[in-house]
Amino acid sequence: MEEIYIFGHKNPDTDSILSSLVLEAIEKTMGIYKAKAYRLGEVNKETQYALDYFGVKAPELLEEVKPGQPVMLVDHNGFDQSVKGIENAEIIRVIDHHNVAESFKTAGPLFYLAMPVGCTATILREMCKVSGIKMDKITAGLMLSAIISDTLLFKSPVSTEKDKEVAEELAEIAEVDLNTYGLNLLKAGTDLSSFTPEELINIDSKTYTTNGVKYQAAQINTVSIEDVLKDKEAIENAMQKFSQENGIDLFVFMITDILENNSQIIVLGKQEIAEKAFNVKLENNTAFLSGVVSRKKQIIPNIDSVL
Ligand code: MN
Ligand code: MN
Repeated sequence: MEEIYIFGHKNPDTDSILSSLVLEAIEKTMGIYKAKAYRLGEVNKETQYALDYFGVKAPELLEEVKPGQPVMLVDHNGFDQSVKGIENAEIIRVIDHHNVAESFKTAGPLFYLAMPVGCTATILREMCKVSGIKMDKITAGLMLSAIISDTLLFKSPVSTEKDKEVAEELAEIAEVDLNTYGLNLLKAGTDLSSFTPEELINIDSKTYTTNGVKYQAAQINTVSIEDVLKDKEAIENAMQKFSQENGIDLFVFMITDILENNSQIIVLGKQEIAEKAFNVKLENNTAFLSGVVSRKKQIIPNIDSVL
């Protein structure tokens, strides 16, 4: 049987990479499909920390899929965020915790599992339970890392009771102290010293289209917003260039303080949309959003409601 490709979204975060690997392991156990995990971009430092900790190799890079290629999507569904050629691929499964995007469409029937929880790995854990699949230490560790990352150690409003309950159970199987490991994992992702401004705006960046308006929402985690703002001008230049090259109408760049749980946003393009969405007045293209840490819950719905 033809090999099925599993992958998360472009500019992959920890959930996209690790949930792909976990689904590969689940498929192997179930034995129905021959499926292999791939990634659609560079592995970030936070993800690498988790991979190293549990001694797992990163999946291979996938640039494009051929027409008719069977695929499984995790942690996304929108074609804006998926692999090149996705329009003509055969989507067999989607395991996701996001809204269904305008750009998602399939020709055939599929297994689509979505739950309103904080992380794809939480859904995969439920899938394992239903299918009676036992969890080994490494797989549990990968799932746990994805949950910590997506929920910012349960401080993000995307986090649910279910995520916490599953994470506590996984921490035991993975033999780690949830809080110690969790903080170390998140901190590993805040070392931004080696990134150029162009790389910085691409670490965790997603494209959305709503009512014909194409916008980009990127996010980085830090322990010091001020440190990042020292490069504000260079970041703005990179955002400007990216917008021109990709036909982006509005670019929102979130700098999220993972210790204080606030974000500073830099906004270029149709700024009036963002000002209305967040009820702020931008000064020098920027504003502070108190208590805002989630792109999915506190940024995207607000922009979409204005659009
Ligand atoms: Mn993700
Ligand atoms: Mn996710």
